[in-house]
Amino acid sequence: MTIPDLTRQLPEAPVLPAMSRQPAAVPRPRGAYSAETARQDFPVLHRTVNGHPLVWLDNGATTQKPRQVIEALAAYYGTANSNIHRGAHTMAREATEAYEAGRAAVARFLGAPDPASIVFVRGTTEAVNLVAQSWGQDNLGPGDDILVPVLEHHSNIVPWQMVAGRTRARVVPVPLTPEGEIDRFAYEDLLSSRTRLVALSHASNVLGTVPPVREMTALAHRYGAKVLVDGAQAVAHFPVDVTELDADFYAFSGHKLFAPTGIGALYAKPEVLADMRPWQGGGNMIDSVDFGLTTFAPVPHRMEAGTGNIGGVIGLLAALDWLGSFDRDAVTAYEEGLMAYARQAMATVPGLELVGAAPERIAVLTFTLAGHDPAAVADWLDRDGIAIRAGHHCAQPALAHYGLESAARASLALYNTSEEVDRLVASLHRLQQTSG
Ligand code: PLP
Repeated sequence: MTIPDLTRQLPEAPVLPAMSRQPAAVPRPRGAYSAETARQDFPVLHRTVNGHPLVWLDNGATTQKPRQVIEALAAYYGTANSNIHRGAHTMAREATEAYEAGRAAVARFLGAPDPASIVFVRGTTEAVNLVAQSWGQDNLGPGDDILVPVLEHHSNIVPWQMVAGRTRARVVPVPLTPEGEIDRFAYEDLLSSRTRLVALSHASNVLGTVPPVREMTALAHRYGAKVLVDGAQAVAHFPVDVTELDADFYAFSGHKLFAPTGIGALYAKPEVLADMRPWQGGGNMIDSVDFGLTTFAPVPHRMEAGTGNIGGVIGLLAALDWLGSFDRDAVTAYEEGLMAYARQAMATVPGLELVGAAPERIAVLTFTLAGHDPAAVADWLDRDGIAIRAGHHCAQPALAHYGLESAARASLALYNTSEEVDRLVASLHRLQQTSG
């Protein structure tokens, strides 16, 4: 990996203001998408692992970063590092401008009406905890229901269990069909005037299922319930519009979207956010502090106590610019084709069973292989330079639905190719031949 030579950018290149005023990336022709071209932007995809060219199929855990993101981070720390919102000098103003440009870019990316509806957080987990501890603590009470589909990631289950414990509300699981879709009839039956919140993911990290979020949200709203959508696995795979979904909350993690770790965003409807109490206290989130009375800053700053991940926001901005340079519909179509190819090719491996068969899905291929522990499968593939994940995928209830405690998972991203799928499948065939 080559880190840019920062001395070439010193010192008058105003990296941050330039970055914040215009999209860095040149738009590519609409309708044309080439994974081979996209791959050129990823230094790490050109390394070897255990003597083989890397095949990165662990995108559900985290995506790789394009050089545009790596360079933006290096340029920020190398030429422009400053704290924000305390702007006594030029660099503080530049950093603040870039940070707020990042907020505006996230709002555009999500189709949110107003940058002030975006709160920066560490990631999806922190976003859900924020809503649970702020909105949940104030709006849940004894006898209230929080509906949570069985396919959720632990980070969209446990925070609700914790707040339910404190408020004496109930977390009610919404069952799945054998295919791994949310059971629509059960959902309708479980909704009632007691339902305060529906917390569901826009795409499952273990089954790949993409639930009908807009319809489910409309149903929940009929009962006056709020809806939180966990977009951790969705945002890298298809365009999202929170206004069209009518979601009350939408959360995602930057690191699953080609951006750095430690940065993510929570969208909340402006009228909902305006009523939410701060969940953490400290600097940056106050209007004035007095031992008699402390008053808070307006949202979103009220929700962002302490120094935020400024570098992370700069990296996220670069990632959104990079992703925005593609025709997203063409990317989605490419991924769908690759997923169909992978599902067919994997089905040729003796003893391989794919987990989850929802028709609306993202390119997450969770599987079991007869005669092999998932960890042993991951280990075997690793020796061929192929990175997949094995374990419970932080979605134990979803796996339990299939009677499993553990499974292997290959998760694809826009830079994966059919040749990489072929290498995965060939390696799995070899494993079955060697052990057969
Ligand atoms: N939700 C889903 C569906 C996920 O797949 C993940 C991570 O794998 C998370 C939430 C948690 O994301 P993070 O660890 O970035 O907070």
